[in-house]
Amino acid sequence: MSCPICGKDAKPETRPFCCKRCADVDLARWLNGNYAVPSDDPEDIEAAIEAVEQAAAAADKLH
Ligand SMILES: [Zn+2]
Repeated sequence: MSCPICGKDAKPETRPFCCKRCADVDLARWLNGNYAVPSDDPEDIEAAIEAVEQAAAAADKLH
């Protein structure tokens, strides 16, 4: 099975993704509600990762 984000081979520990980064991208797409319109634009992916990291940082501050 290949990673749905980048198409590389998935790893058992992060499947169906190849790595944590791609899992984060997938999560960001879900959070942004645009999963049905995947983009291959690297800037979009970077922005999605940034959104996840900011959400994680905000969650950390709650503790
Ligand atoms: Zn990947």
